[in-house]
Amino acid sequence: MGVLDFVKPGVVTGDDVTKVLNYAKENGFAIPAVNCVSSSSINACLEAAKKVNSPIIIQFSNGGAAYMAGKGLDNKDQKAAVLGAVAGANHVHSLAEAYGVVALVHTDHCAKKLLPWLSGCLEFGENFYKKTGKPLFSSHMIDLSEEPHEENVKICKEFLVRMEKMKVTLEMEIGITGGEEDGVDNTKVDNKKLYSQPEDIELVWENLSSVSKRFTIAAAFGNVHGVYKPGNVRLRPDLLGDFQKHIKEKFRLSSDKPVTFVFHGGSGSDSKDIETAIKNGVVKMNIDTDTQWAYWDRLRCYYEENKDFLQSQIGNPKGDDKPNKAYYDPRKWLRECEEGMIARIEVAYKHLNCVNRN
Ligand SMILES: [Zn+2]
Repeated sequence: MGVLDFVKPGVVTGDDVTKVLNYAKENGFAIPAVNCVSSSSINACLEAAKKVNSPIIIQFSNGGAAYMAGKGLDNKDQKAAVLGAVAGANHVHSLAEAYGVVALVHTDHCAKKLLPWLSGCLEFGENFYKKTGKPLFSSHMIDLSEEPHEENVKICKEFLVRMEKMKVTLEMEIGITGGEEDGVDNTKVDNKKLYSQPEDIELVWENLSSVSKRFTIAAAFGNVHGVYKPGNVRLRPDLLGDFQKHIKEKFRLSSDKPVTFVFHGGSGSDSKDIETAIKNGVVKMNIDTDTQWAYWDRLRCYYEENKDFLQSQIGNPKGDDKPNKAYYDPRKWLRECEEGMIARIEVAYKHLNCVNRN
């Protein structure tokens, strides 16, 4: 039994997204959600997913989406970020099935000032839905964790109403995840705010479940975006278990894990904490910092190993007239980057207990 018993390879959308996430929750694994900025990183994700025989979540941050469109394109009114996310999503739609991979396409952190980006993506999604009968994106994230809770939930609810018409899943964040993400700096916030309260999750559940069952929550349990010196904040994935219990009792639900959680800022977490998070209903973990490093690190090694062949177009230790094209061809060194990224994604799959889940 695996994911391919109930969904087909390709981009999964609508009810299939819920099925895949629930299957992960029931079977004790989480799916890596990898931030992509180019066709090179998207292909690395697809290749990694194919290698481990498990689903993948390919996601675009606002900056990553704009980069996807090209730095030369004006991003006025989020135009480049919208088009880049759409281009990235289309790239996955074109290739995932051929790879035999179950892929979810997602847009990452969208703060209040970036909401026009989400609206733009939804507009493309709605047109795509009209034409094809299926959504362009599997899910979108709204991050209003910096706003007052009531406003956060109210805006999320409004967007969820719009998204429910296409059966698109919403990921929302409540409570502050420390660290820095796309220019939002939370490195100095009060430690108390780094832990969500049961009442926060209740507020989200009460409001969003009246609109749709298609939502996931990034709760704060001491997690930090990016890699920082450990020690300042303690990770408390056990809190997620308390939240589940609270929601189950408060709303008299039969499931022990009614809430579907996602894990932000998981870079550098130890495996015990990841295990506890998954046990308590985490089905998605964001991976960005570590794959960025892996992509770069492999290039660094490649350069060090082949330095003498990378100083000029012609001329190396084998002769002054010997060409170096085979070394500086982007397909050569970008491939190295991809292989580094693939290897790191495979590590993430193992941490998330997500190997051979198809
Ligand atoms: Zn976050």
